[in-house]
Amino acid sequence: MAPANPAHQDESIAMGDWRRLFLAFSPTGEPYTTKGDILSILSKNGIHKKDTRIQDLIEALEAYTPKEPIDFETFRSLAGRHVYLLQRAAQGGFIIPDFSGFTDHIAQIYQDLVSINTGDVARYIPQLARVDPKYLGISVCTVDGQTFDIGDTDVGFCVQSTCKPVTYCIALEDVGEDKVHAHVGREPSGQNFNAITLNSKNLPHNPMINAGSMVCASLIRPQQPLADRFDAILSVWQRLCGGVRPGFNSAVYHSEKETADRNFALAYFLKEVGAFPSGTDIHQTLDLYFQCCSIEVTTKAMATLAATFAGAGVCPMTGERVLSPESVKHGLSLMLSCGMYNFSGEFAFTVGLPAKSGISGVIMLVVPGVMGITIWSPRLDPLGNSVRGVAFCEKLVSLYNFHNFDGVGPASEKTDPRLQAHQEKRYLALSLILASSQGDLDEVKRLMARGASPDIPDYDGRTALHLAAAEGRQEVARYLCRLGANLDVRDRFGRTPREEAAASGITL
Ligand code: GLU
Repeated sequence: MAPANPAHQDESIAMGDWRRLFLAFSPTGEPYTTKGDILSILSKNGIHKKDTRIQDLIEALEAYTPKEPIDFETFRSLAGRHVYLLQRAAQGGFIIPDFSGFTDHIAQIYQDLVSINTGDVARYIPQLARVDPKYLGISVCTVDGQTFDIGDTDVGFCVQSTCKPVTYCIALEDVGEDKVHAHVGREPSGQNFNAITLNSKNLPHNPMINAGSMVCASLIRPQQPLADRFDAILSVWQRLCGGVRPGFNSAVYHSEKETADRNFALAYFLKEVGAFPSGTDIHQTLDLYFQCCSIEVTTKAMATLAATFAGAGVCPMTGERVLSPESVKHGLSLMLSCGMYNFSGEFAFTVGLPAKSGISGVIMLVVPGVMGITIWSPRLDPLGNSVRGVAFCEKLVSLYNFHNFDGVGPASEKTDPRLQAHQEKRYLALSLILASSQGDLDEVKRLMARGASPDIPDYDGRTALHLAAAEGRQEVARYLCRLGANLDVRDRFGRTPREEAAASGITL
């Protein structure tokens, strides 16, 4: 089994594997590589020079010019503890093997989004109203730490409601599921995120709305001074973000606090009905809640956080388990059902992925087991979600089979970026053979449209046309012939599709 944090462990591999690895980094197959080749293969895989995991390798490579030959022994000593990472890069062994192909699509979606100018920035506090509506940043981080950033990915923004899944998970880790859910439900509310409404047990509907998040905040280290409580939360954020310490927007915090009549009203209402644990100081709780909303990050940092959720609590950049798989599972479940304000049901239906939206225009999107994506664009739709952010998510799942239920039923026509290119080809070819033998012309057409090759045979050397002809599937056989399938190729029993057609009595 692969070690939890491959890049940080010594790995002893056989000499033959070392040689193969070395040659995979050689530009010509001759026994040498170069710094340029090593960096370019890594970067095609989304492992960049700034990746904290490989800083010692990057420093060691500084001694070389880009094209200077590096021999086998030098390569071995340079690779050192990174051998496992290099091996996965060379073998296409990361979760997204064709990472540059995948990110080309993300860049294309980004370009399409730039021209969307509908929606408006949040205006309930001046600090948000002043944000430039033109900002657009998209960052991707896979569970293997492959990263891609495009647009305004270094500009800080407030996390706002995207703090809610984190606050919830910290509360789960601190006091356990039973205690947390003795104070907050797990149903969508069907109401605005700041609505003064409770469920039938007089509890907030779920932890993804203001009331629920306040209750979760109240459960985190209530006996400690406020500063320590916030510090503890911030340090979890830092670990979720791969070591990047998030900022804090003091102006937003003060502004939130000064204009928070609704949140105060909510907190008093919760107090009145006994929703908080006994002894809760609601002013401190509100303060902690405002502080969490005012945490500032970049899309880059938040994509790492989302990838940590995608990786069931293990941060891909440090290999550290920050949250338990159970807490993350609960967090993702509630993001799926309640994470996108009053659009949550629609989003779960169309996009089918857990996500959390914040009024600053950020969406943290999780493809479980695969990657985290953060999109930040401040223009909001009437429900409070980023217009371009939602458009991004919809486009993404129209291209890739990431929707929760894309795997249900017949093979989806969308691409699976987790497959290596050759696996995808093989999968298409075998599906084509099966569909042809069943005479399913529609499916054959779809598979051909996706690039299936009619001449890739199965292990008996039989092609789609062999099978269509042998089974008497005249329509499919004719269609394949018209698209150039070979009538005279022999399978391992020596038979051709032409002979099969004659035997089953179909005319081509
Ligand atoms: N700070 C905002 C509030 O409590 C959060 C808004 C949001 O992102 O949903 O009202």
